[in-house]
Amino acid sequence: MPLDSVQEEKTNLENFLGQNQIKNLDTRYYLYGISVAFFIIFPMAMYRFYTGDRVIGMFDLAISLLLLSLSVRIWYRKNTDHINYFVFGISSILMLVIVSVKGIDSLIWIFAFVGIGYYTIDKTYALFGSILLSLASTAIVLDQITTSFMVSFYPSLILLNTLLYLGASKSGYQQDLLFELATIDSLTRVKNRLAFNEKIEELSSSMTRIKQTVSIMILDIDHFKKINDTFGHAEGDQVLADFAQLIKSNIRGSDSIYRYGGEEFVVLAYNSNLESAAKLAESIREKVALFPCLAKYDLTVSIGVTEIPANNANAVSWLDRADEALYLSKNRGRNKVYLALHDDTNNSDSYMEYAKYFNIDQIDGSLASNVIKLKKAD
Ligand code: GH3
Ligand code: MG
Ligand code: MG
Repeated sequence: MPLDSVQEEKTNLENFLGQNQIKNLDTRYYLYGISVAFFIIFPMAMYRFYTGDRVIGMFDLAISLLLLSLSVRIWYRKNTDHINYFVFGISSILMLVIVSVKGIDSLIWIFAFVGIGYYTIDKTYALFGSILLSLASTAIVLDQITTSFMVSFYPSLILLNTLLYLGASKSGYQQDLLFELATIDSLTRVKNRLAFNEKIEELSSSMTRIKQTVSIMILDIDHFKKINDTFGHAEGDQVLADFAQLIKSNIRGSDSIYRYGGEEFVVLAYNSNLESAAKLAESIREKVALFPCLAKYDLTVSIGVTEIPANNANAVSWLDRADEALYLSKNRGRNKVYLALHDDTNNSDSYMEYAKYFNIDQIDGSLASNVIKLKKAD
């Protein structure tokens, strides 16, 4: 298993559809929006000075400078974190000042400011923000408002909000769907390697912060090539799908299974120490060997298990240890569970076979835990 290239693979996938890419996209579109706003507001500032309207001119100039500094910040930090609500807040204040100074004629600007809300912040906050902004702006010029103005102003504002809200809902739904499609393996219907990489990254950053016990197991089907050779690739595909669903139905809802490679899978078991993860792995190994649908293929699986150390944020080392345990399972006969022990120091004593760890004399092929009562070694 090419575990040494996990880091490289991770970067590739992130560049394809990961957080960085999404952030870059966000940043780019934010800069487009700010540039358009700048090239509208800055000439207006100049026009105000030209016509002698110095107060509004100064105001527009200040907004232009603010937009410039925002773009510099976004450009250098390459993200738009923490500025969305700030931008909407400033825009709203700007709207109220314009209406106070220029009167009812400038109320038309509200359509643009409502758009800014949906562009920058969550659609529900944008909707409430937009209602508040409309009420406040119209309250300022209440004495100038006529019935005929209200009859066209409010319906068009409601229509605009409805369309923007629906548009934002649709694009959010599409984004979720896209993410779902991008993170599910189409053959086995379990999560794919992209999802695994994202999860591992999330765990890496939270392990040292949140005290939680997570164990990881790598499962590799034994002699899968033979199944392909004997029964054909299409039937091999079906075996993979059945295998994945069998594992999925034998882990807890809070645990997750990922297709890591061709016939290799990873299970993340939450709130599971090495001991309970090992028992889970052994029950999986046994179920696979006994599963009636797979009996015809004489299918077995080798599994490497490790507990993720709470103070080790290096994800690659967790995988390396589980992979090393898997390697031993393969090397020492297959259809076995090997554990990478807690106090791993990279020597072979750090790995132990399931039966030895639990002080079981012998595991009789697939029937092991049916006939032997488990007892943990001291
Ligand atoms: P070992 O016990 O050492 O793991 O032997 P193995 O044959 O399972 O392992 P090996 O890595 O030599 O071969 C894995 C095979 O899995 C080769 C490849 O053709 C097959 N495979 C990988 N992905 C798929 C897939 O999506 N569908 C099918 N049908 N076969 C696949
Ligand atoms: Mg393999
Ligand atoms: Mg294999």
